[in-house]
Amino acid sequence: MLSDVKALDRAELETCLNEWGEPAYRSGQILDWLYARRAGDWEAMTNLPKTLREKLSARFALNTLKLVRQQGAQDATRKFLWRLADGALIESVLIPANPALYGEASDRHTLCVSTQVGCAYGCKFCASGLDGWKRNLGPEEIVEQVLAVERVTASDGSQVSGEGPTQTVTRHTTRTVNNLVIMGMGEPLANYDHLLKALRILNAPWGGGIGARKITISTSGLAPQIRKLAAEPEQFRLAISLHGATDEVRTRIMPVNRKYPLPELAAALGDYQRAKDQLITFEYILIAGMNDGLDQTKPLANLAGRLRAKVNLIPYNTIEGLPWARPSEAICEQFLAALEKFGVTATLRREKGGDIDAACGQLRLRTERELKPTPDATLSRS
Ligand code: SAH
Ligand code: SF4
Repeated sequence: MLSDVKALDRAELETCLNEWGEPAYRSGQILDWLYARRAGDWEAMTNLPKTLREKLSARFALNTLKLVRQQGAQDATRKFLWRLADGALIESVLIPANPALYGEASDRHTLCVSTQVGCAYGCKFCASGLDGWKRNLGPEEIVEQVLAVERVTASDGSQVSGEGPTQTVTRHTTRTVNNLVIMGMGEPLANYDHLLKALRILNAPWGGGIGARKITISTSGLAPQIRKLAAEPEQFRLAISLHGATDEVRTRIMPVNRKYPLPELAAALGDYQRAKDQLITFEYILIAGMNDGLDQTKPLANLAGRLRAKVNLIPYNTIEGLPWARPSEAICEQFLAALEKFGVTATLRREKGGDIDAACGQLRLRTERELKPTPDATLSRS
C-alpha cells in the first residue's frame, strides 16, 4: 500500500522532491494545494507539470475521507461520520464558537477529532469503547478530518451536485477550524507518535497553521505519555478525563485507573504543569448515583487546587444500551456550588443536550450496528 502524502512533513517531502531533481519551490506548491486549497486529488494541482503529478500519484496516496452521515444544523454543532480508505468508520464534531460570546454569528469553530478506530480503554460510560479497539489512525487520517470538514463547510449552500474533492479547491487564507480538541473516538496518547506527527502538521505554518495553544489533547490519564508530552517543545493544552476524584469511584468506571491510580496520575500532571506553566482542565462527567455525590467535591477540589486545574462539569449524555443516566439539574448545580465554595474554578455545561451534543463514538456505533447483517436481517430502517 502506498503511504499517504499527508503523513509527510515538509522536510520529508522536500527530501523526496530533491531526490527526484525537482526545483525547491515545488514542495511549497504541493503543500499549498494540500493544506490551503484542500485539494483531494493530484489532477487538481494544475501548476505542477503533468509528469510530476504522475510521479507523485505513483509514489504517494492522497486519500480523502468519505462522508457517510451528517447530523446537526449548519449554524449549530455538526457531527460527521467518515469512511476511511479501508472501510472503517470514524467521527468528527464541529462546534461553532458561542455566538452569544461574540455578539454575532461567528465563523470561528472548534473541531473535535478522533485518533483511533474504537478504543481499548473500556470506560464504562463511553460509546467509543463498546465494540473494542480496531486500529490506530495514521497521521494523515487525523489531519484529513480538518480538511474534510472544511471541504464540506466550504460547499455548504452550493447547488453543485456530485460533489467531488476537486470542486472546493479555492485558496483559503483563514481556516474554518480555528481550535482543535482531540476528544473524539480513541485514546490519543495510546497513538502517541501518529498524534504528534499529525498535530505538528496541523500546527505548522506550511500546514494547518493552528496555534499549539489552540489544540487541546484529552486523555483518560496515561501517566507515562503525559510525562513524555511534557518534554515536547510545543505548548499543546491538556485535558484529563477525570470523572472520579477518589481511586475507589474512578476505578469503578475507568479501568485505566487500576494501571495509573490518582497519585501517579497527579504526579505526572504535576510534571506537565511545571514544564508548561499552563492551566490543565479536568473533565468531569456527572453520572447519576455514580460520581455525583457531594463527597466527591472535596477530593476533587483538593486535586484541582494542587494542580491549578479548572474543572468542566458535563452532565452525562445517555447512551443506548448503557445503564447510566444524567443527574437532575438541581444535583448538577449543587455539585458546582460545592466546588466553587472550595475555591475551584469550575463550569457546568448547561445547554439542553440535543442528541447531537453527545460525545463522539455514538454515531459510528449506531451506524455500524445498523449496517451489520443481523441473523434475522431486519434492517429496514428509514
Ligand atoms: N480517550 C480520551 C479522549 C476521547 S473521550 C479521553 O478519554 O479523554 C472525550 C471525552 O468524552 C472524555 O472526557 C470522555 O470521558 C467523554 N465522554 C465519553 N462518553 C461520554 C458521555 N456519554 N457523555 C459525556 N461525555 C462523555
Ligand atoms: Fe476510550 Fe476516552 Fe471513551 Fe475511555 S472515555 S473508552 S479512554 S474514548
